[in-house]
Amino acid sequence: MQHPAPVSRHLRLPLLGMAIVLLALPVKASADLVILAYHHVSSDTPASTSTSPDLFRGQLDMIAELDMEVVHLTEGTRDALKGEQNSDQLRVALTFDDAYESVYTKAWPLLREKGIPFTLFVTTDALDDGTRGYMSWSQIAELAEHELVTIGNHSADHGAMIPRADETQEALKARIADSLDKAQTRIKEETGIESEIFAHPYGEFSPALTAALKERDWLGYAQHSGVLGSYSDPHNIPRFPVADAFGGLDSLKDKLTARNFPVPYDSLPDPLLADNPPVLRMTLPENWDRNRLTCFAPRQGVMSIDQVNGQKVSIQADNPLQARRSRYNCTYPAGAGRFYWLSQPWFDKTQPEG
Ligand SMILES: [Zn+2]
Repeated sequence: MQHPAPVSRHLRLPLLGMAIVLLALPVKASADLVILAYHHVSSDTPASTSTSPDLFRGQLDMIAELDMEVVHLTEGTRDALKGEQNSDQLRVALTFDDAYESVYTKAWPLLREKGIPFTLFVTTDALDDGTRGYMSWSQIAELAEHELVTIGNHSADHGAMIPRADETQEALKARIADSLDKAQTRIKEETGIESEIFAHPYGEFSPALTAALKERDWLGYAQHSGVLGSYSDPHNIPRFPVADAFGGLDSLKDKLTARNFPVPYDSLPDPLLADNPPVLRMTLPENWDRNRLTCFAPRQGVMSIDQVNGQKVSIQADNPLQARRSRYNCTYPAGAGRFYWLSQPWFDKTQPEG
């Protein structure tokens, strides 16, 4: 808790006047939250899911240099969704998926020493099977007791939450329910915790997963880039992946200072790929100039932005997307060197899920 410096009697009146002026200004609601998604913290595991201990330290240093508040995920999420706080305070939350051993051996000592809160999303079958490279349940229980640590559900089997080839909606719903509830039961048995947060395996989501999360009243975290705020979907919240392959310090500042993109999530398309390349249509805020919007397709560079009518635009890559998981990334200048950031994910269920 920070206490304001003592104010002398002579200064009180002018300060009160300033406060009234500040309150009268139409300040845009801003309780945006940047969430970072980690897997391994190690130099010996795959680069696409690993952050080296050196880079991890560098990222924590940058968070401190930017004077960011590191918040507990659940609380920070609820504040950001309400978007009620008028504040330019930068906020960030750290999350680790899968419960890899290196998080316990490499990240945890540093986080504990610095007093930084974080969330661990646990895949329970891997722990039950004693799979190499994962933490043990006793390590999870030890972390769960600590006030800095929040434990979340990352499914039992880490299966994709979009339909598999020839899978009916009924079968998908049953598979999702089994995996969510089995993991929830195991986490409760081992730690006593009833989690209310879920991280999507591979960051993939579908209307069936959203329905399951709503039914349980859980928050859901995906893995497309972007910032959580009042325009976000509480069941498919963006997180920035920050492994060595994407989390370099040269691009990190843009992510840490990014803002919630002001387009309502329910106006954006379902990520399940139908036509390829897919079309992203959205309506930009009234006062935005579409020429200042920049959108990228993976390995294809900048996309052209076509006006449909008024502020409604249509964005499409020139060539089909190639990967199981792709994204269109769009940014718009937010002033002071910051950007509004939107990432629209696309999932191709015909490609292998692992
Ligand atoms: Zn995972």
